[in-house]
Amino acid sequence: MSTIAFLGLGIMGSPMSVHLARAGHDVVGYNRSPGKTGPLLDAGGRAASSIAEAVSGADVVCVMVPDSPDVEQVLAGEGGVFDHAGRDTLVIDFSSIRPDVTQDLARQATERGLRMLDAPVSGGEAGAKNAALSIMVGGRDADFAEARSLFDTVGKTVVHVGPSGSGQTVKAANQLIVAANIQALSEAVVFLESYGVDTEAALRVLGGGLAGSAVLEQKKGPMLDRSFDPGFRVELHDKDMGIVTAAAREAGVVIPVGALVAQLMASAKAVGDGGLDHSGLLRGVERLSGRTDR
Ligand code: NAP
Repeated sequence: MSTIAFLGLGIMGSPMSVHLARAGHDVVGYNRSPGKTGPLLDAGGRAASSIAEAVSGADVVCVMVPDSPDVEQVLAGEGGVFDHAGRDTLVIDFSSIRPDVTQDLARQATERGLRMLDAPVSGGEAGAKNAALSIMVGGRDADFAEARSLFDTVGKTVVHVGPSGSGQTVKAANQLIVAANIQALSEAVVFLESYGVDTEAALRVLGGGLAGSAVLEQKKGPMLDRSFDPGFRVELHDKDMGIVTAAAREAGVVIPVGALVAQLMASAKAVGDGGLDHSGLLRGVERLSGRTDR
């Protein structure tokens, strides 16, 4: 069992830290603003009031914060992990950020005698709560092997996809697929409702055929109920669409559907839906269809 510092106890980080504590690890949680350590403490973990306090004595440092600048601040900023972690500590970044930023941070980690894996996740809040995440890991073989049992504690499908940054590249592809799926599902729901079809029954039968997907299963309820509490916020998916469109451009490949859905995601954020779950893309379809009266 390891001593694990867990930095960022939000929608994803909190349940992940709880699973690690329940598995018997000594988990020390830190969150920027107070009031989020309750579930970890209930699971037998400890709370720290600074990054320095959390990482001192840790074998492994896990990070789960929103965006590239946040990870840069937590790792390389003043008072951050790189200043305080002991030599050879394994840093695991579960956040979804830019692959190039990950590679740069991994290089800085190596220069400071630390090791780093990028390990973004998919599966949503439900996946985090049920320890059923898909985890796409970038980094060195030996570090992945060492972290494997930790990953298995929070995830169900754990794959080492290549060197540093690869996990983030795979996650960018994941976000392209998920956004396109949610948009298509949203359009199908508004279309079905416009014909007065029993939409719940329609989605049940669609879910058993080729149109079935994890997106359909997880998002049909919120869409039918128009209940868009996050979950995964539109503003985070907007960040991810920025990552995948920029990375595709950099690589010289063309992702027209991705570009379109990126614009629709940006629109959702621009009209004030950034704090809603990404299933709230449905509201954009309603706006475009003149059906905002529901
Ligand atoms: P969240 O609920 O907003 O939690 C983010 C946490 O990071 C909060 O505890 C926040 O602290 C902390 N934080 C933010 N900026 C920080 C900074 N500059 N320095 C230190 N701490 C900071 O977000 P989340 O939904 O857990 O998402 C976290 C990551 O997982 C994102 O990269 C997201 O794309 C990815 N992800 C999310 C889901 C999902 O379904 N939610 C699924 C897969 C992947 P405060 O409490 O002080 O704000």
